[in-house]
Amino acid sequence: MKKEFVQSITAMDDDFAQWFTDVVTKAELADYTSVRGSMILRPYGYAIWDNVKEALDARIKATGHENVYMPLFIPESLLQKEKDHIAGFAPEVAWVTHGGDEKLAERLCVRPTSEVLFCEHFSNIIHSYRDLPKLYNQWSNVVRWEKTTRPFLRTLEFLWQEGHTAHATEEDAQVETLRMLDEYAQLCEEWLAIPVVKGQKTDKEKFSGAKSTYTIETLMHDGKALQSGTSHHFGDGFARAFDIKYLDKEGKQQYVHQTSWGFTTRIIGAIIMVHGDDRGLVMPPKIAPTQVMIVPIAQHKEGVLDYAYELKERLASVTRISIDATDKKPGWKFNEYEMKGIPVRLEVGPKDIEHEQVVLVRRDTGEKLIVPVDELESKLPALLKEIQRDLYNKALKHREQHTSIAVTFDEFKNKLVDNPGFVKAMWCGDLACEEFIKEETTASSRCIPFEQEQLSDTCVCCESPATSMVYWAKAY
Ligand code: AMP
Repeated sequence: MKKEFVQSITAMDDDFAQWFTDVVTKAELADYTSVRGSMILRPYGYAIWDNVKEALDARIKATGHENVYMPLFIPESLLQKEKDHIAGFAPEVAWVTHGGDEKLAERLCVRPTSEVLFCEHFSNIIHSYRDLPKLYNQWSNVVRWEKTTRPFLRTLEFLWQEGHTAHATEEDAQVETLRMLDEYAQLCEEWLAIPVVKGQKTDKEKFSGAKSTYTIETLMHDGKALQSGTSHHFGDGFARAFDIKYLDKEGKQQYVHQTSWGFTTRIIGAIIMVHGDDRGLVMPPKIAPTQVMIVPIAQHKEGVLDYAYELKERLASVTRISIDATDKKPGWKFNEYEMKGIPVRLEVGPKDIEHEQVVLVRRDTGEKLIVPVDELESKLPALLKEIQRDLYNKALKHREQHTSIAVTFDEFKNKLVDNPGFVKAMWCGDLACEEFIKEETTASSRCIPFEQEQLSDTCVCCESPATSMVYWAKAY
């Protein structure tokens, strides 16, 4: 029975894309619909999102932001106001043209992001320096008409938060942009056990309408990168387009300086592709909806179920713990919870009861531990902590092993083939080189990392003087 269950997912190394799809469906995270690129978040997938949301929302609030809600529709004329913004988003916008049978006087766009809505609102409510900063966030869905889609990673409609802030000075806006990038980075590293590279996007890759875009880049098991969260500094570009001004302390009219930052359901794709293995999903304990699953052994025997339920009650104050007391065979349950990536399985049967112990099985390593029942209150949280740390270290090691250095273009091409992952290489700052590299290798610039290294003096592509080191990779 075990074999059957495991055989039904493709091995990662045989076909990573199919493995990913198998995990998404077999772990019951999401399901497809009849609309291309749209996905149903099933209860388990939504529970993970809920936990991500709760952890991120706490950070957003702790840094002084307030949640608001903007409408779903944007009038075409409003979207047109900032020319770079509309130029970037136009190809991905879904339009509402009719209400019932009646043609609308003006088309409404389904928000792909809400900058212009916030801008219109800011222009109404910001008048004086006393109104600043405005630190807003919204949790919502957005729609982008993507050409190619994958569950979680790139969907037509996705759930996210988008922060939108207005500040008195450019410096304040810059501090905010980097502060929120740091919040994303800490969330990924501390909660999701996913190491990130923090840096700035090149002009080619920055957000439409932004002065600068900062990103956290993560590396998946197959060596492809994933842009996992972005934070944008707008300067006063949007403020000029939308006339968002305030009276400063000297009574002079000034434009505000703005930021926005977004984090989406894509991150669940990252959890799958960073931690997962051939048995399915592996959930980092801090974000796992269920951290410990009790599987009673020989549960038909007298006293076993009562004992297991008592344990659950007792341990509920120290972990998120569930019990599967259905009539499925234990082997079947083992496989199901391995597929779902539940960090620890707790087995308890008549022999364990007799010896006043339980068996704990780690999802990440398969290691079995026999633990006296009266030590569980301290042992379980410690074990979950250890798993969280080990997952992070494993992911970090993988990233380090799949990060290469290239000085010449030949080296660059070879590294991408020999050791798929990040390639660190110097760049002259010229768009032509960035485009050439993409064309020749399909690797794109991921970011100009904050932690710079002087690998050589010349650009890996054109050999003219280099201005910065860039992380390059094939990406999702
Ligand atoms: P942006 O507003 O373009 O900066 O997007 C914010 C973040 O959303 C990006 O950094 C991606 O991680 C994520 N993202 C972009 N497009 C999609 C999509 N189609 N599906 C899921 N997540 C997305």
